[in-house]
Amino acid sequence: MWIGLDDTDSKDGGCTTFICFEFVYRLYQKGYCLRSYPRLIRLNPQVPWKTRGNGAVAFHIGKRKGGKILFGRKNDYSLYLDPDASSKEIDEKEIISLLKEVLNKYAEVESEDTNPAFVFVSQTFSDNFYKKAVHELVTINEAIEIIKHEKGSYFLIKNGRGVIGATAAISWDQKRDHTFELISYRDEARWKTPRYVAEESVKKMDDQVSSTFDNYDYENRYNSIVPHSPCPILFGIRGDDVSMLPLCQKMIQSEQSIGWMIYISNQGTDDHVKMKNISMIEPFQSVIVQGNVSSIPSRTKGGHIFFKIKDNNGDYIDCAAYEPTKEFRKVIERLHIGDYLEVYGGIREEPLTINIEKIRIIDLVEVFEKSENPLCPVCNKHMKSRGNNQGYKCKACKTLSNEPVIKRKDRELSIGFYEVPVCARRHLSKPLKRMKTEIRL
Ligand SMILES: [Zn+2]
Repeated sequence: MWIGLDDTDSKDGGCTTFICFEFVYRLYQKGYCLRSYPRLIRLNPQVPWKTRGNGAVAFHIGKRKGGKILFGRKNDYSLYLDPDASSKEIDEKEIISLLKEVLNKYAEVESEDTNPAFVFVSQTFSDNFYKKAVHELVTINEAIEIIKHEKGSYFLIKNGRGVIGATAAISWDQKRDHTFELISYRDEARWKTPRYVAEESVKKMDDQVSSTFDNYDYENRYNSIVPHSPCPILFGIRGDDVSMLPLCQKMIQSEQSIGWMIYISNQGTDDHVKMKNISMIEPFQSVIVQGNVSSIPSRTKGGHIFFKIKDNNGDYIDCAAYEPTKEFRKVIERLHIGDYLEVYGGIREEPLTINIEKIRIIDLVEVFEKSENPLCPVCNKHMKSRGNNQGYKCKACKTLSNEPVIKRKDRELSIGFYEVPVCARRHLSKPLKRMKTEIRL
């Protein structure tokens, strides 16, 4: 049986993965188990009503027979996956009452924007629903139609918007590109107090385990494994090599954690972006657009940088590198009219603007600039300027010239990818570190 769950947290606390962690632990106490890694699935970051991290969870449960793959621990109790677990003997009523117990205790239901839902289905289904939910807007009814079609059941609290994420997380196909995240949880007594996670230990882990990513932003001194919200998570370590994550967890010096669990995830995969012509772009999508820079990048008072690109059909769209993208803005400011780019990012409404996550520079135009006054062909000495646009004159022999010495400007950019720093990175954005093996230059 597959269970999907979403929208249980709020800006003031809670966390859907923590509810998953608590629920999974209770399942094991009742003789159930997970048959594969629980899923942490991020959806379209552009949706206007998103929960804090816009992440849903899903997991495949069975009646436990054995299992040797360690994927989590709560206090002294180890959690093992059992891929061969039985799908029969599942008491749905027992599961529902367990889940409701955890939701009643930990879901932030009082919060206005929290609309939890969970979904039960016997088997996974086509990933078409996931593909839509990660890229654009989908409705609650679309999700409910799918569950009905799959003969599943759903439970909605308040408007039940979480049914979208819960359904999408089950619909995700793990044969797609994927990563893992080990999430470590705080003792309830410490929730909403400052976290202790030693930065030096994070840097050391980042340096020693190259299969992890988005751990630490050295330029901006930002510890990215620690959430910056009052949720029950102590830290989360993302990586490609699942076998390294328990070791990484041991390398982090921190306050006492009550346990951890490893999730399989679509984080860091660029699943949300889709190649589009500018005329096809709609608000709240996440896109890749190719085009020529058609206006000089300009900086606003708030430190945001805007420019336009024009695609091969002659359509234009604004692109923005906002202040939080820090040193990435220096790259954008070096762009010149005519440069050919691929721009990755989410679409903001009114006016339609791409909020840039990364760019690929495909072609750089040559830019020429005046380097010095011309030499007099008679005296071989530098001529003097006669004022704005009035050419040059040799002081000695009065020879005139209109042409300064022109030099090709060093663009200080190269063909290839540039991304926003770790401190501004979206969960779904594929870090260049993960792209190295497949870079298309
Ligand atoms: Zn001269």
